[in-house]
Amino acid sequence: MVDLELLKKLTEIPAPSGHEDRMIHFLKDYMSNYADKVEIDSIGNVIAVIEGEDAKAPRIMVSAHMDEIGLVIRRIEDNGFIRFERLGGVEPKTLFSREVQIVTERGLVDGIIGVRAHHLAAYQKEIEPVSKMYIDIGVQSREEAIKLGVKVGDPVVFKPNFKILNGKHVSSKAMDNRVGLLILLETLKALSRERPRATIFFVGTVLEEFNVRGVLPAAFKISPYAVFCLEIGVATDTPDLKDLGPDLRLGRGPAISLFSFHGRGTLGGLIPHPQLVKFIEKVANEVNIPCQRSTFFGGLSEASFLPVLKEGIPAVDIGVPCRYTHSPNEVVAISDIEATKKLMVNILKNIDERFKLERGIL
Ligand SMILES: [Zn+2]
Repeated sequence: MVDLELLKKLTEIPAPSGHEDRMIHFLKDYMSNYADKVEIDSIGNVIAVIEGEDAKAPRIMVSAHMDEIGLVIRRIEDNGFIRFERLGGVEPKTLFSREVQIVTERGLVDGIIGVRAHHLAAYQKEIEPVSKMYIDIGVQSREEAIKLGVKVGDPVVFKPNFKILNGKHVSSKAMDNRVGLLILLETLKALSRERPRATIFFVGTVLEEFNVRGVLPAAFKISPYAVFCLEIGVATDTPDLKDLGPDLRLGRGPAISLFSFHGRGTLGGLIPHPQLVKFIEKVANEVNIPCQRSTFFGGLSEASFLPVLKEGIPAVDIGVPCRYTHSPNEVVAISDIEATKKLMVNILKNIDERFKLERGIL
């Protein structure tokens, strides 16, 4: 069963990119109950280890980014209204009239993003750019805002709004990637009871939504043979995405990403190691978990740069299909969370000294 209480709790912990300390603290505590060892690297990645029974089996890493998209305060106006930039790929049209929380050194400060009064905006056709938007925190001056602890550079998150829809779907801000994090924790818990043959490193990573590279120092340090990245997959089963992307639906099982490419000058993306995909599909087949194959043009994930790190670290994204990505209400299916967890546990249990990833195999 999926621990929905834990998922709710994870979505409620504010951890905007670069400011993940509350989540780092939570993960360290939680993982210490199950792992043989937990450590935190200098940029904040939380690394938990379960020692395998077979020293000859390869070292394996499973990662899930713990950070979330948000905003960052750019300027506090004389009259106390707060201007901001986007932190990560926030969709601007979802911002108006949102409830937000400013994460200050002294605690959370509630606010709302203003929207032009309807009665005086009938002529307004275009959506205002982010540079013209503002947060209202109920103060009348910059001094008053500062007194509440608000400072330039403080990050902002959407207010927690976890909901269960029809007993089948869950909706929340930051479902990307708290759902991946939940599966990371549940898999760790499962393997602490049934020790695997391979040594497994479970890593909660920082900065994915900002520059997708926070995982790299952890992978450099661990030097794993392969990495499985737990993420969301972009579902295309809503009326507005019918003709775009793959046919990726909620409730049809985990998404194995076969291709992602960001483009736009970064040349970032991932084509996973063919033998790694084969292995996942073989395990899924054996334990009867239907998977969906996905391709994604226009984005990338933290798996993207692992294959060119050190001597080359094969990596793959395993995603829970998710609707309305990077909006304040991201929706996933409970059955997909369950299936992805079961798949991940079985993948890790099946890795032993015979696990080889080679190229040139026909
Ligand atoms: Zn993500």
